[in-house]
Amino acid sequence: MKAHTLTQAEQLLQKYRLCDSCLGRLFRKEITKGSNTEKGQWIRTQLHQKNKIPAKECWLCEGLTDEIHHFIDLITKTLEEYEFDTFLIGSKIDEDIQEKEHQLWDQLTLEDAEPIKMEINREIGKILEPQLKKTVDIPNPDIMAVIDTAYDHVTLQISSLFIYGRYRKLQRGIPQTKWPCQICLGKGCKKCKYTGKLYEITVEELIAKKALELTQGTDESFHGSGREDIDARMLGTGRPFILEVKDPKKRNIDLSLLEKETNNALKNIIEISCLRFSNREEIARIKAAEFRKTYRVTMEAAQPLNKEKLIKVAQSLQGQLIKQLTPTRVAHRRANKIRERLIYNCTIESVEGIIAILTLETQSGTYVKELVSGDNKKTQPNLSELIGIPCKVKELDVIDVKGE
Ligand SMILES: [Zn+2]
Ligand SMILES: [Zn+2]
Repeated sequence: MKAHTLTQAEQLLQKYRLCDSCLGRLFRKEITKGSNTEKGQWIRTQLHQKNKIPAKECWLCEGLTDEIHHFIDLITKTLEEYEFDTFLIGSKIDEDIQEKEHQLWDQLTLEDAEPIKMEINREIGKILEPQLKKTVDIPNPDIMAVIDTAYDHVTLQISSLFIYGRYRKLQRGIPQTKWPCQICLGKGCKKCKYTGKLYEITVEELIAKKALELTQGTDESFHGSGREDIDARMLGTGRPFILEVKDPKKRNIDLSLLEKETNNALKNIIEISCLRFSNREEIARIKAAEFRKTYRVTMEAAQPLNKEKLIKVAQSLQGQLIKQLTPTRVAHRRANKIRERLIYNCTIESVEGIIAILTLETQSGTYVKELVSGDNKKTQPNLSELIGIPCKVKELDVIDVKGE
């Protein structure tokens, strides 16, 4: 420590009564070893000052540095009902203390003094880590506890819990995600029977119900890898999704139990599988992934179908790039533009009068109903035009979504 620093410290102590912790913190860069309190004690010894100043008489912190154990008790209590592996401590320090701190830095032209806020956060974390047997994680904690020192109040910021899985939808007429009622925008009105919702049940809410119970979360978001039409079933190995549970109290839930109980409650409606814990980053992956889809299409023609002709048309669509202008039925939520999509496979399974069943394997994002009907020439080429008879989709199932 330089003699100049000691002189600075001496002048400072003539003006202000400071506790050891605050004194040490101001000069922490000048002394290499020890805690801030030890550094403060050392300076005082060098200056032959015998009178130790109690924290509650300290001009700067007004006793704050003595309250660490009190804050720890408050935080521990607040955390009691939460399950977590990693945590982080934050704090909101009384404004007048922070102002005084800045005032001292300016007077002393100290640039690398430690803010009291950092000391409080670090000291609480250091004691809580072994006490709770949990790890401090700065970039990505499960839970962050913020102590407001002026009001003696702890607020928690809880990271969402992410669960990956695949779902099969065995019943038609269920939309994937919840939509607010378009009349009241979610407030509740006569039209939506005061539910605020456009649809009574959704894949999202059916799957989330048990997960919210087990985690005691407050809300959820559902992220699907694409979506099927409301009237289409989702079969095969199912569609990948990530369920985001907000503010969960329990994180270490038994996923096989969740899977079993969900499937038991939703028999013949929804079935989930392949559950595992996930993270926020994976949402982007499953949303962006161009998973190939295979559909089973029951189509209905305006006149009886000729099987040979239909098979030829199906063959001509294999490997074909089609152009689709945004369909009328989704125009209100999608940009009006031409999308090019590849048809990997098109096979006729059966033909019976005006009804035919075909299997279609397409690039993700293909509008299958429009590929069959032509949608007033908005999709080119299309099945109706190729066989010369107007056709439409009667029933649609997604029978496979490729990719993890
Ligand atoms: Zn102090
Ligand atoms: Zn409404």
